[in-house]
Amino acid sequence: MGKVITLFKLLPKLHQMLLCGLFFVTLIIILMPSDNVQASKQTPSANGEYDVNTRYSVPLAFRTPTAPAAELSDTNPEHRKRPAQLAPASSKTTEQDPQQVKPEPSVVAAKKLNEKRFQVKSGDTLAALFERAGLSAKDVYDVTQLPKAKKNLLKIMPGDNLVIAKSEDGKLVQLRYHLDKITTLIVDNGENGYQESIVKKTVEARSKFANATIENNFWNAGVNAGLTPNQIMQLATIFGWDIDFALDLRKGDQFAMIFEEEYADGVFLKNGNILAAEFTNQGDRYTAVRYKDGNYYSEEGRSMRKAFLRSPVDFKYVSSSFNPRRLHPVTGQVKAHRGVDYVAAVGTPIKAAGNGRVIKSSYNQYNGNYVFIKHNDTYTTKYLHLTKRKVKTGQSVKQGQIIGTLGSTGRVTGPHLHYEFIVNGVHRNPRTIKLPKSEPIASKEKAQFAKLSATMMAELEHNKQVQIAAQ
Ligand SMILES: [Zn+2]
Repeated sequence: MGKVITLFKLLPKLHQMLLCGLFFVTLIIILMPSDNVQASKQTPSANGEYDVNTRYSVPLAFRTPTAPAAELSDTNPEHRKRPAQLAPASSKTTEQDPQQVKPEPSVVAAKKLNEKRFQVKSGDTLAALFERAGLSAKDVYDVTQLPKAKKNLLKIMPGDNLVIAKSEDGKLVQLRYHLDKITTLIVDNGENGYQESIVKKTVEARSKFANATIENNFWNAGVNAGLTPNQIMQLATIFGWDIDFALDLRKGDQFAMIFEEEYADGVFLKNGNILAAEFTNQGDRYTAVRYKDGNYYSEEGRSMRKAFLRSPVDFKYVSSSFNPRRLHPVTGQVKAHRGVDYVAAVGTPIKAAGNGRVIKSSYNQYNGNYVFIKHNDTYTTKYLHLTKRKVKTGQSVKQGQIIGTLGSTGRVTGPHLHYEFIVNGVHRNPRTIKLPKSEPIASKEKAQFAKLSATMMAELEHNKQVQIAAQ
């Protein structure tokens, strides 16, 4: 510092002043708040504020105010951020000091001598890692004579960890390698020479409660309730026969659910199934309970599956704000028209609403690419303006099968699916029509299901009351 000041004094006066000025300007820039931070606070996605009845274009986009986009496809629970309100109290236990490895309960019996964790580096082979651990080529040879060790250790990946325990004289005593979150390969070197074993932790299921009131969009409500994208989709799938998630949701709709979380040694592994759920849509209450057959039934024991999906488009692809009064895409006026229009991005997959046979898959100047499906003598559904048709005339289709992709072919002003639901030759509103009642649970299962349903619904109600009391 002294040298800098001496040098500064040697400079001419003008240079000294310029330097001083520069110094203060730099200081001000450093201390000024960043514009980026202020700007991001004002973006609508940060606070999730959207006006009801205003149209926002949401092309294939998910509104995820708290969850990072990468989470959508990330199924590795380790990479997933646990929302604060759902975080297990023991979440700290996932972090471990690289040098001080805590013994796992399953390997308590093993000798704990000189134990160290080694991380596989890029380009590492088992031999290179063993060398770093002070082990010999003979050790590599001996360990890889064991079939499971050979299979798993010869394909170690960067980032993997091996725990190596050595005796005081530097002899390999034990090696542990996590195959996944609950499975560990253990190689022991004892009196009988090398032996290997696979140890699995016991997975414990805990049930968890989540609920929300929808303010402006279902996706946001789910994210705010701490649900993962996968759970939000599961919930929409369970109720997808009763509720059109693309068009029927309104402010004030509510849901509540109990789901499983899997833990091993107090550490969160992954979410399990939704066990029970309730959805109130525009005042109508729907319930679902998962039975041991893996299917969902209403609390009275009626199957959630029905002959028709309420919507042939996933809600996540459709403009997520509420827009009950649709403008006609061509005339620009609100008018009664014989179908339902789903506005979404070109390429959005379109699903068959029910099982049936394709009676027409063709093109004309009005409909563009279109597909008609006859489900039985009573019901026919029609799908217009597709970009691509994925089925041929005469073909059988299953419910939920992709029959084409949304587009803007034919007489349209913008991309949308025009969907028609025809009952005995008459156009009906697919969103409100009463559909045939679905099959109830088998009579021999009835009593058992009724008991389960009563318990789950009581638990759901209890949790809701607790939550209300806490507010
Ligand atoms: Zn239309």
